[in-house]
Amino acid sequence: MISIEEALGILLKNIPERKTERILFNQSPGRVLAEDITATLDIPPFNRATMDGFAVRAEDARNAPVELILGGEARAGGGIPENLKPKEAISIMTGAPVPEGADAVQIVEVCPVSPCESKVTVLEPVEPGDNIAPKGREALAGDVIIKAGRGVGPAEIALLATFGYAEVPVYARPAVAILATGDELVEFDKTPRPDQIRNSNAYCLSAQLRLLGIEAEYLGIARDEKEDLRKKILAGLERDVLIITGGVSMGDYDFVRDVFEELGVEILFSKVAIKPGKPTVFARRENKLIFGLPGNPLSTLVTFECFARPVLGRMCGIKQPELPRMHGVLVEDVRQTPGRTAFLPARAQWTQNGWSVRPISWKNSADMIGFSGANATLIFPGERDLISRGETVEIMLLPDFLTR
Ligand code: AMP
Ligand code: MG
Repeated sequence: MISIEEALGILLKNIPERKTERILFNQSPGRVLAEDITATLDIPPFNRATMDGFAVRAEDARNAPVELILGGEARAGGGIPENLKPKEAISIMTGAPVPEGADAVQIVEVCPVSPCESKVTVLEPVEPGDNIAPKGREALAGDVIIKAGRGVGPAEIALLATFGYAEVPVYARPAVAILATGDELVEFDKTPRPDQIRNSNAYCLSAQLRLLGIEAEYLGIARDEKEDLRKKILAGLERDVLIITGGVSMGDYDFVRDVFEELGVEILFSKVAIKPGKPTVFARRENKLIFGLPGNPLSTLVTFECFARPVLGRMCGIKQPELPRMHGVLVEDVRQTPGRTAFLPARAQWTQNGWSVRPISWKNSADMIGFSGANATLIFPGERDLISRGETVEIMLLPDFLTR
């Protein structure tokens, strides 16, 4: 049995080379840029008014209040205004180009216009540059504005639109297949016999993958016999990553590891000091990766987040795909048998004194009903047997924390 840290070390050494693709820019939120993005023009593209008011020469308004001749008008999108003459002011709107000759904009609130609209009084002086965003202040054409490796969010989408990028180079998402195993399983649209249960893990995994942005292919349920397993595992090896649930424990019908051996799949680890999820298997054949996650529903869920997410996220180009961790104060005693690091369902809540962590009582590592009330997992160190109320604990947020 290896530690979680050792397992992570092995996982990170086996990340395949990333592929890239070009996609429409407005379909890129959540993707990671594979190349630097450069400015295609200066931003702002002209000296731009940042307030509604009057474009003036700061020098003309130095002895304010002063009366200036009201020249033309500069509207946003209304063309490049005529040059400003000495002792003149031009009415200007936010977003409009500042006329040549003007070096400041005085705000409209301190500039009453004469009744005949031929003069304007500037009541207060302005400094050169006031209320003007000069051409190229944010970026000059050719500047790198978004570095490769950055995830695309709303701000990056705004930049891609600003600079006219219809398409963007991003890291491709890995092709992932999911395989359920077990003679006891039937699909959700079937009525189980008294000795059967419905397959829930395949759908749980596909939901977890979707939260990572990956649409997985589902290969169905393999029976607990080598031939069916071999056929379906070979189909899964057509993809970049195969995730198998069940069949990896030590039971008489847990054949996944035998079939791996027959197919020349190299097992990189097969037992981790984690609870739930001890029999987790990580394996590879050439550049194809395989996760064999234990079939207990909570084991599958937790081991996907702890072991598959760090690999799949990096294959998508995400620098740090691990679920965020925080500290919080435990509101109830929690006991565990020492030995393995446990991930226990919990609810984290923001209070005046910081995060509080309430453990959720659950019956066993199949109790999804208990677990579904959680928005985080409490990380219970393997060497402890009791963590008391009031102690600070580490938690790992679940991927849909914000909506839970
Ligand atoms: P296994 O890892 O195959 O020994 O399975 C461990 C436990 O998880 C058994 O009680 C299985 O019935 C259950 N299990 C395995 N696969 C699934 C699945 N796809 N959906 C729900 N429960 C499962
Ligand atoms: Mg099984």
